Amino acid sequence: MTSFFPLTSCGSWCVRDSRKGCSVSDASGFIPYARQTIDSDDIAAVTAALRSDLITTGPVVRTFETEMCDFLHVPYGVAVSNGTAALHAAVYAAGVGDGDEVIVSPLTFAASANCVLYQRGTPIFADVDADTLLLKPTAVESKISKHTKAVIAVDYAGQPCDYTALRALCDRYHLTLIADCAHSPGAAFQNKSSAQWADIATYSFHPVKHLTSGEGGMVVTRSETLARRMRQFRNHGIDSDHLNRAAAGTFEYRMVTLGYNYRICDFQCALASSQLKKLAHWIERRRQIAAMYDDAFNSDERMAPLRVHHDAFHVYHLYVIRLATRYTAVDRRALFDQLRASGIGVNVHYLPVYRHDYYQQHFKGCSNNCPNADAAYDRIISIPMYSALSDQQVMRVISAVQKGLDSLSV
Ligand SMILES: *Cc1c(COP(=O)(O)O)cnc(C)c1O
Repeated sequence: MTSFFPLTSCGSWCVRDSRKGCSVSDASGFIPYARQTIDSDDIAAVTAALRSDLITTGPVVRTFETEMCDFLHVPYGVAVSNGTAALHAAVYAAGVGDGDEVIVSPLTFAASANCVLYQRGTPIFADVDADTLLLKPTAVESKISKHTKAVIAVDYAGQPCDYTALRALCDRYHLTLIADCAHSPGAAFQNKSSAQWADIATYSFHPVKHLTSGEGGMVVTRSETLARRMRQFRNHGIDSDHLNRAAAGTFEYRMVTLGYNYRICDFQCALASSQLKKLAHWIERRRQIAAMYDDAFNSDERMAPLRVHHDAFHVYHLYVIRLATRYTAVDRRALFDQLRASGIGVNVHYLPVYRHDYYQQHFKGCSNNCPNADAAYDRIISIPMYSALSDQQVMRVISAVQKGLDSLSV
């Protein structure tokens, strides 16, 4: 699958990034699993925003919303304080309330399910596909009840879900399809962004993600009604902001629903907007790195590589290696420890959400119903993946993984 966005935004940044833009660890140092890239253009953009009259709810928030919408080919965007606030706004806008059920992927960060609890709904976990670790449409269908309101699909590791099947399912049962795209800005399924398939897509701009605003997030949608609800929700449930009131020459405002303060600052959006200009090239670099890892690991019989759907344009937030089925959680632990000891910042994404203590205590019934997620968790490791990794660092990671595999007993 080729890129669905044009690679037109290459300026001089790409060159500067790799030379002096950021302090990347050298060949002998610790290599983290993810890190941000900040260059002098980013710093200049933030500085300019700090010198302006409005440092929050000013013009740069709207500029960044428009730029993200253009990038994703959807009309409406609402920038918020973080990716979790984006999920909360999405679940609110979908009308989820007391007793409603929302079907969620278990192999994700807890926020993807916590947002349902914030609205007093019940998250129902449906299993992932064993090959891709993406929410499995047939498993979703088996969990639909008369209480189901929405589905939260997660573009795990940066691969878009099977959106033809999920879209058809949600249309048939009148469910709101929410795509948690924290891992997948720029991803596409059949040449359409995840945001174009979903009713609402949510993004995170935390520093480990593709682009950052420090903390930040966004909800995007094709529905003007959903966009209006989420814009109110971001600002205490008030139906206008200070810019609208100034334009209308009035001091009056009405609080029409219970919302939150989920606003984001202008200088944060200035950073994210500057980062967005480089995103297409960063994605190309992530895909190059993934291809190097694929070459090294895909034909190794000790590995069970995750599959990439032929209709998917994968943007590799994470690169996840998976041990073959004969290995156990003990082997995974041994490999993990050895990689950490050799200065490779590995991680594991994720413990299935229902196995967290809080979920075990409050939702006893939901354990052991997602065998693919449980089985995957025991054998996966996320290895370093970010655009500023040098080829030399990638080679160092590959040889450390191979050495680690050699030392496993089976
Ligand atoms: C990072 C992340 C979030 C939460 O985003 P924050 O900006 O940290 O609140 C939600 N879902 C997934 C899958 C994530 O990776």
